[in-house]
Amino acid sequence: MEISVRELKGIGEKTEKLLNRLNIKSVRQLVHHYPRCYITYPNPINISEIRSGQRCSVEAIIASPIHLTSGRKSKTCTCLIADESGQLFVRWFNMPYLRSSLHQGETWVFTGTPMFKEGRLMMEQPEFSKREKYKTQMETFQPVYPLTAGLSNKTLRKAQTEAFRIHQEEEYLPQEILSYYDLAGEETALKEIHFPTGPEKLMEAKKRIIFDEFFRFFCSLELVKNREEQALNEYIIPFGPPIEKFVSALPFPLTGAQKNALMDIRNDFSGTMAMNRLLQGDVGSGKTIVAVISMYAVVLAGFQAALMVPTEVLARQHYDTFCKMLSPFGIRISLLTGSTKAKEKKMVRQACETGEIDILIGTHAIIQDNVVFKNLAYIITDEQHRFGVKQRDAFMRKGRNPHVLVMSATPIPRTLGIILYRDLDVSIMNEMPAARLPVKNSVVGTSYRPAAWNFIRKQVALGHQAYVICPMIEENEELDLENVKEYSRMLSQTFPSSIRIEVLNGKMNTARKNEIMESFSRNEIQILVSTTVVEVGIDVPNATVMLIENAERFGLAQLHQLRGRVGRGKDQSYCIFLSGTDNEESMKRLSIIGHSNDGFEIANEDLKMRGPGEFFGTRQSGTMNFALGDIYSNADILKMASEAVDILKKEGYDFRKIPLYSLEEELNFAKDI
Ligand code: ADP
Ligand code: MG
Repeated sequence: MEISVRELKGIGEKTEKLLNRLNIKSVRQLVHHYPRCYITYPNPINISEIRSGQRCSVEAIIASPIHLTSGRKSKTCTCLIADESGQLFVRWFNMPYLRSSLHQGETWVFTGTPMFKEGRLMMEQPEFSKREKYKTQMETFQPVYPLTAGLSNKTLRKAQTEAFRIHQEEEYLPQEILSYYDLAGEETALKEIHFPTGPEKLMEAKKRIIFDEFFRFFCSLELVKNREEQALNEYIIPFGPPIEKFVSALPFPLTGAQKNALMDIRNDFSGTMAMNRLLQGDVGSGKTIVAVISMYAVVLAGFQAALMVPTEVLARQHYDTFCKMLSPFGIRISLLTGSTKAKEKKMVRQACETGEIDILIGTHAIIQDNVVFKNLAYIITDEQHRFGVKQRDAFMRKGRNPHVLVMSATPIPRTLGIILYRDLDVSIMNEMPAARLPVKNSVVGTSYRPAAWNFIRKQVALGHQAYVICPMIEENEELDLENVKEYSRMLSQTFPSSIRIEVLNGKMNTARKNEIMESFSRNEIQILVSTTVVEVGIDVPNATVMLIENAERFGLAQLHQLRGRVGRGKDQSYCIFLSGTDNEESMKRLSIIGHSNDGFEIANEDLKMRGPGEFFGTRQSGTMNFALGDIYSNADILKMASEAVDILKKEGYDFRKIPLYSLEEELNFAKDI
């Protein structure tokens, strides 16, 4: 039985609701909600050594009175601090009471991230403590949790403390595996993750938790595989003359890579075993057309096919593409998503069951129990890394051993791919359509913003469109990130009113999102200010500029995915990575992406740059859905986990013994999109 978080001391209805938004309902889920990173307290440095964008501590004297300014909305405390090497402005928002705790002439240790503001170096919202207390702080790691608006880190930490009073984790790994891979016990590791006692211990704990994530992932693959066990090919599908005719009538010649992928699929379709294939191709390599052609073949052979994608917006876009290309041949295509009206849903379901639909396209709405197919022979999952094993499995069960194709743009080096996709054959598309001009990149600082806006204006004047990407603010309220709404308001003030600017973010309702995406693809909207919602799959070839604000806040893989939204048409496209800090490390990382348009190369370079130092830092997002584990930087642990599963398998181990709750939770993967 799961204990509800509500049972914990100090958690009332309000906090419970907030936790639910993070998908935390039970105490077990709470203790498995890991810190995003840890704050450490560095050795104080001299003011003269401060670097913009780099978190630091300085021991300094308050050299001016604390000045209070009251604005319309907020009160600001500002003062000057100094040591023998120099001076620095510090300020706090909405903390007027600080004037009774801080006084001119006192010495404190201030900790924060100085930035250039209003032409001078400024440390905002610094923490401050006396030297003695600071010394004890220096020995600690303060966990920083992924949050949601209204929920503070402090509340979450308190909740964790309460949780550990009652929670107990039972060790499930066999002792031989624990000692062979030198892994910490699960209970110990969990405690350490939330309440670190030192760097080494924390490293060990992370190793164990990450091992668990990978291990469970591989176990779930085993479970799925066991049930399916290499199915025979029940659907022989020829690529006949109509397919050749269709291909030669396309407005463009297929790339060599597309032809090869189609050849692989064609061979599988006529082979003795059902297809189980991964189609991996960098963003923009043209995976969709491969899906269209192979599905057409399946329908011509008299069977149904289905395509599942992670977002509504993408489902709609694919639906339009498929209709445009295949409806002229009498192929019947339908769309089924969460926002399809109940009445229509029912009609689609009926038509699907009686075989009046040839191709069904949708979000995970198409794997609901009440969706039944007449003769489903082929399923495709697009942006496969957004789905869990369980969803893939549920999809597969919609037919009797259908052919399976999963498509992904995640650039995974072959050595890792063999481990991660152990149950799949792989086709790689490593070639871009010839008509494409490579995206021109620039990595710049905030001072370049007016020029960037000007550039967008010029592109729009030429009839093109632009994306502006801002990081989400919710997770990190304390940081100075640009909010989409405010940003678009700023843009509206500078741009002529003839240019329509709209915002898109994950929290908007789906109908509205679809509406905006559709107007954008019809060029009724010229500038789309968005969070990373546009990251997956969106294809608007007329968009030629992307400006990414606070680019340093994103992982390189994610930046690459984002950039993939431009450079899709015949016109030259541009991507501007605007960094909010001139921190050397960030700039170096961004310069990787500024110099390369090749997803594989970027992944490899990124891997090289991120040493074990990153172990405490932010996880690379955008690749697979592990909470702590990162397939790139934790590749060694990934190998261990894969090997461990093999060892246990040889011993005839029953994988059903592994607690795979995460599988149930995987169903929520697509939630935030
Ligand atoms: P992705 O692999 O990222 O899913 P898409 O399938 O969305 O890429 O294709 C990106 C764009 O390239 C689309 O506008 C598509 O029509 C176009 N495209 C696909 N194949 C070719 C090709 N062989 N030549 C020219 N353009 C192509
Ligand atoms: Mg795509």
